[in-house]
Amino acid sequence: MPGRDAVIVGARCAGSSLAIALAREGWNVTMVDRDEFPSDTISTNLIFPNTVSRLDQLGVLDTLLTNHDVPSLGFRIIGFGHECAGGFTPVDGFDKLISPRRIALDNAMVETALAVGVNGRFGERVVELIGSGTSEDPVAGVVLEGGEEIRADWVFGADGRASTVAGKLGIEKSNPMRGEVAYLLAFWRGIPNDGYATSDIRDDAILSSWAAEDGVHLLTAWGDPEFTRGSKDELLPKYLDFLKQFPETLDQAALANAEMVSDLIVAPETLMRGYFRQPAGPGWALVGDSCHFKHPGTGQGIGDAIEQSIHVAEGVSGKDPYLSGYGDWLNGRSLQQYPWSYAWGSFPKSAQQFVGWATEEDAAQDMRDSFSRQVEPSQVLTKDRIERWFSTA
Ligand SMILES: Cc1cc2nc3c(=O)[nH]c(=O)nc-3n(C[C@H](O)[C@H](O)[C@H](O)COP(=O)(O)OP(=O)(O)OC[C@H]3O[C@@H](n4cnc5c(N)ncnc54)[C@H](O)[C@@H]3O)c2cc1C
Repeated sequence: MPGRDAVIVGARCAGSSLAIALAREGWNVTMVDRDEFPSDTISTNLIFPNTVSRLDQLGVLDTLLTNHDVPSLGFRIIGFGHECAGGFTPVDGFDKLISPRRIALDNAMVETALAVGVNGRFGERVVELIGSGTSEDPVAGVVLEGGEEIRADWVFGADGRASTVAGKLGIEKSNPMRGEVAYLLAFWRGIPNDGYATSDIRDDAILSSWAAEDGVHLLTAWGDPEFTRGSKDELLPKYLDFLKQFPETLDQAALANAEMVSDLIVAPETLMRGYFRQPAGPGWALVGDSCHFKHPGTGQGIGDAIEQSIHVAEGVSGKDPYLSGYGDWLNGRSLQQYPWSYAWGSFPKSAQQFVGWATEEDAAQDMRDSFSRQVEPSQVLTKDRIERWFSTA
């Protein structure tokens, strides 16, 4: 129904992709974010080919690649010394992942949204909703910190884990999950890009290493929850020492000459706990982390946010005008991926699956393609593979 008004709270990957998709359907969209852009947010930034294709369809990829040099990368997993590496089965011609920092990606998304006519209100905070969100009193707009009201037919919460929209509606988290790992990460200059996003996995430590954009490189150290406890002054030597423990994966001569160009970024285990929230009701809906969070170990948050936004925009524009099917669609997409993310967000107990992926190319391809959502996790660790690999352990 063209000409209707939407307010979106949050303008990063969920908010901007929803804004673009709604604007293309003819909606008048106002997007409010307390942050100004460009600005960064915590992430390891993996974007798999299915989402690269979505960025292309939304017009964001063009903007991103016009502004930045973003290398395309294959995917390498080394588990207990057993290595498999390769690309992905192409999705609309894209067979590699990318990993631009959010300061680059989110800005490209915001820029693209503004270019298709979205009204951006940045550096402004939503503090209240108009309407309680019941069928008698649907949500009908938002109130900004200064008291200004913006009225709309729909209000969308794309406002992240601590969603104000969900909070004001009293929507609780459900179905919690937690992993076993915590991250210390930082961006570097001077680490050569070997063309792969690599994770070197041991039973109590994991190093991830990949190129971001414009010659910047991300090095992430995964440890147990205790690993990230302490002040940044205490954690920095721990992080630097960790990087020296992986000489086969990380060129130590390059590391010695490289420069750390960001602060040390701390992602405690508690930040990576999963949940669902009821995603829609009268006059309101949630997209992105506000409605569902899974472990970042499978790098699905950005892609999920964009898929949800496209689904919701198509729904409210006619296919599912009250979003009554949105919750089931969300649960269906997450059924296998949610626990799979927490399996990758825990330390492996056995080398056998890595041996399997290192020796059976079709199995390694299935594993990579589960990250780009071309196969379900149950097709990766099939009964046959589990019996074969684990019975020879
Ligand atoms: C350590 C870590 C690593 C990760 N790595 C990956 C990865 O490799 N790949 C991947 O796909 N995902 C990854 N994720 C997940 C990914 O970062 C999130 O899923 C993604 O950021 C969700 O986007 P969003 O737009 O929903 O929320 P956010 O990015 O959190 O954006 C929410 C926006 O809402 C704004 N906002 C909030 N409240 C208000 C308010 N009241 N008024 C106005 N504005 C408001 C905020 O300022 C913010 O800009 C990672 C997450 C973590 C924690």
